[in-house]
Amino acid sequence: MRRFGLIPARFQEGAQKIADALKRSDRVLISGHVNADGDSVASLTAGGLILRALGKQFALYAAGIPDYLSFVSLPGAVYSSLRHIPFIPQSALIVDCSDTGRMNAEFAGRLPDLTVINVDHHIGSNGLGAANWIQPEAAATAQLMAYVAIACDLPLVGELADAIAVGLVSDTGGFSHGNTDKHVFSLAACLASGGCDIPQLRKNLEANWTLGQMRLWSRLMRRACLLHNGAIAFCNVHLRDFRECGTTIEHLEGFVEQLRRLRGVRIAALLREDKPGMCKYSLRSFGSTNVQAIAARLNGGGHINAAGGTLYASPGQAKKLLLATVTRQLDSEKSPTLPPCSSDIPQ
Ligand code: AMP
Ligand code: MN
Ligand code: MN
Repeated sequence: MRRFGLIPARFQEGAQKIADALKRSDRVLISGHVNADGDSVASLTAGGLILRALGKQFALYAAGIPDYLSFVSLPGAVYSSLRHIPFIPQSALIVDCSDTGRMNAEFAGRLPDLTVINVDHHIGSNGLGAANWIQPEAAATAQLMAYVAIACDLPLVGELADAIAVGLVSDTGGFSHGNTDKHVFSLAACLASGGCDIPQLRKNLEANWTLGQMRLWSRLMRRACLLHNGAIAFCNVHLRDFRECGTTIEHLEGFVEQLRRLRGVRIAALLREDKPGMCKYSLRSFGSTNVQAIAARLNGGGHINAAGGTLYASPGQAKKLLLATVTRQLDSEKSPTLPPCSSDIPQ
């Protein structure tokens, strides 16, 4: 059943372009971004399922799949090195990533030899390949992959529907972030009609904590502070936090959204030490407060309300630079209509 009507008018041309490019492709490598998240794994999976339905040879490439996404049913083995791919690739489908800096270096090095198809929703990208579909208005790359599937005449059922739902739920924060528009709900309704059990999927994503993760979050919640008259919530994470709680960076997924829950906060900022001299930051906001503009100045990128990047600096230097840039952005934007509440948390 063709459901082209489900694709918003302004997305139809892009969906058809990628469907046509996939039909012309052979021996396709599929990759998302490093430190894969729900949308990246979902889009990788959807890409594989679409190519399988089109009768194409494909291989999934990823450095690893986070443990909290291990319930996702993948359409084949995941290769972490190109040496083991069982064919000579001709094309690459890159999803949820528009920046070679966010790809595994081995894979990025092969791109010049391949016909590249790029589907993504990050702001400010020019695309990486011969066929690009960069749609920042989309809530998730998996949403775009659903439209590609429809343009290929594939029904959104079974594992394809389940995979797309993982991407939608992940990048909308369970249908709660500002990117959750009517098209997301229409697509979710279609996935549910196709047999996807979204409450079960949310349970798989959310009810999977270890005690170590709970210890880590409680430690970080105690450390969180309010700055800039309560407009910024900030927390830093040290290497020893992971070690002492028996956790990895995967267990931090979702924490920065907790910082944004503090009343009056306009920007939540999390700074994670990854190794000496290298820190990863995550920023979150609501409404028109633009954290992508901050990340764009700090070697990163993302979306209006969710952005991140890497700073090659010590935690102390990175904190100073991050907070100075966050403050500058807040001061350059109009104040919210409601003044922030004063903090009752020791700073
Ligand atoms: P994170 O804070 O890592 O959860 O990322 C928030 C959003 O920003 C996600 O959509 C990421 O894909 C995006 N993002 C994170 N780091 C980068 C980066 N270095 N370049 C572009 N986008 C990024
Ligand atoms: Mn992603
Ligand atoms: Mn995404």
